[in-house]
Amino acid sequence: MNELNKKSIIVTGSSRGIGAEIVKVLAQKSYNVLLNYNKSEKCAIELKKQLKGKNVEIFKADVSKREEVKEMINFALDKFGTIDVMINNAGISQSKLFTDITDEDWNNMIQNNLNSVFYCCQEVLPTMINKKNGCIINISSIWGITGASCEVHYSVSKAGVDGLTKSLAKELGPSNIRVNSIAPGIIDTDMNNGYSKQEIQEIEQEIPLEKVGNVSDIARCIEWLVEDKYTTGQVISINGGWLI
Ligand code: NAP
Repeated sequence: MNELNKKSIIVTGSSRGIGAEIVKVLAQKSYNVLLNYNKSEKCAIELKKQLKGKNVEIFKADVSKREEVKEMINFALDKFGTIDVMINNAGISQSKLFTDITDEDWNNMIQNNLNSVFYCCQEVLPTMINKKNGCIINISSIWGITGASCEVHYSVSKAGVDGLTKSLAKELGPSNIRVNSIAPGIIDTDMNNGYSKQEIQEIEQEIPLEKVGNVSDIARCIEWLVEDKYTTGQVISINGGWLI
């Protein structure tokens, strides 16, 4: 059931990490929230349980597949009646020498990190354009801005997301739809499990604020962007000063 006058928000890839924190923060603020997961069903169910009493719906969809994205959007429309905010957070990473990246690695990265954003934006937009109101927030990465060694395909996918953000913001401004990216630096989630403790300490020495970020650092910015009215086409990099 839609809670009256509260925005309805989809958060892709929100079973774990940054997405899960975004769901928690938005649900606590009593927005209507769709929690999307793909593989981590247990985590998704546990998170929904933690948020008992809040208007959180849960939906399994692999957002790298257009048909599943369509089903997710229809489910949200059915439950909430409308979608005001689309948060494209789902993503994967892989560390490999450029010369070792296979066609399959490349296509998998682009499919999961960039094409998923293309599908989610295209499928949600008719409802936003119809009411001349909407907000899209894409989670990209600092590596899309600076490029990362041994993560060329990841960096390309995130640079693509930022390109989509800026172009779409221009196209959709007249429809009163804001489109922005948040480009995190390094945030403490499973995505960075491949780094050793020593590697993390070395990274922290390069960051002016001398620490990796926390999921709440990203969720705070989301909370603000959801209610903001005049920010569009921006890539907001939250990185402790790593990129100045
Ligand atoms: P994470 O802890 O590895 O979580 C990734 C989330 O994405 C999981 O909930 C996963 O769901 C979901 N996901 C992946 N592919 C999906 C798909 N095809 N369909 C639906 N869900 C999918 O990663 P994270 O650190 O929270 O990353 C979230 C976003 O922030 C990503 O876009 C990432 O690139 C970006 N980012 C992260 C960092 C960082 O340092 N952590 C830095 C810059 C940018 P299931 O487990 O249910 O499949």
